[in-house]
Amino acid sequence: ERAAALRRARGPGMTKDGHKVPLLANVGGPADLQAAMAYGAEGVGLLRTEFLFLDRRSAPSVDEQERAYREILGAFPGGQVVVRTLDAGADKPLAFLPHAEQPNPALGVRGLRVFHDAPEVLTDQLTALARARQGTEGRLKVMAPMIATGAEAAWFAGMCSAAGLPDAGAMIEIPAAALRAREIAAHAGFLSIGTNDLAQYLFAADRQVGALAGLLSPWQPALLDLVASAAGTGRPTGVCGEAAADPALACVLVGLGITSLSMTAPALPAVRAALAGHTVRQCRAAAAAARAATTPSEAQTAARRHLPDLA
Ligand code: PEP
Ligand code: MG
Repeated sequence: ERAAALRRARGPGMTKDGHKVPLLANVGGPADLQAAMAYGAEGVGLLRTEFLFLDRRSAPSVDEQERAYREILGAFPGGQVVVRTLDAGADKPLAFLPHAEQPNPALGVRGLRVFHDAPEVLTDQLTALARARQGTEGRLKVMAPMIATGAEAAWFAGMCSAAGLPDAGAMIEIPAAALRAREIAAHAGFLSIGTNDLAQYLFAADRQVGALAGLLSPWQPALLDLVASAAGTGRPTGVCGEAAADPALACVLVGLGITSLSMTAPALPAVRAALAGHTVRQCRAAAAAARAATTPSEAQTAARRHLPDLA
């Protein structure tokens, strides 16, 4: 019964003391869109656009992409939709892009790096996004995956601006970018932390290897340190990795200064309830306690002491 009530729970994400934290959905294709609406997402915080490019010999046309982006915008009247440009390579290989074979794909030409040799793929995608954005009052936002340096953020912002897309965002999923988030933020309207890749690169632990799950725990205090660093730039900064889907950790992230959370849709109700049960002050205390711990399980126990209203 409690589960049913949670699923029905709607409304914007908010702490007990009224601090708004937009709760958004990660969407990887049309099927996820249904779930995002069903679980009351306020919008899309991460649209993984790879689904448009998979299993084909050439990139989708500008028209085809524009139609797809418009459909997603249409599903969230009034809500924001944050589109990540194509994140090819490593765990997301694409047949038609160069550099398909590399000795260390996760450390190779992937994400934004792919476009240095295939700029037309990015230009087409940005053109389609700029067209879909027309008349939406800026609800569509664009961000790049795998930004490592301020120079890369500047390059991406320039490409976006040339296509008619202001306010380009940057994903923070490489430790260097988290450590020097201010340099990225100088060229980005907003930041979005991808904790899946950030943990992978921080611990040198392949995210696809189940045996390394302990190192990859989103409760690792070192990961929380990097999140805190990336959250300190003054720009809106969300988390769109799996960390956002854990209700207690969601409170910790808000305590670290995170301004929005995007997650797999079924996780939304429990996260919404956890935030509603705690004040920002409690979230900050939980965050400080978690960072002071030395292991993921200690961090979790320490944080929960400050979050009495968790289910
Ligand atoms: C991440 O890396 O945390 C992320 C959100 O992107 P993806 O899982 O698609 O790499
Ligand atoms: Mg990633």
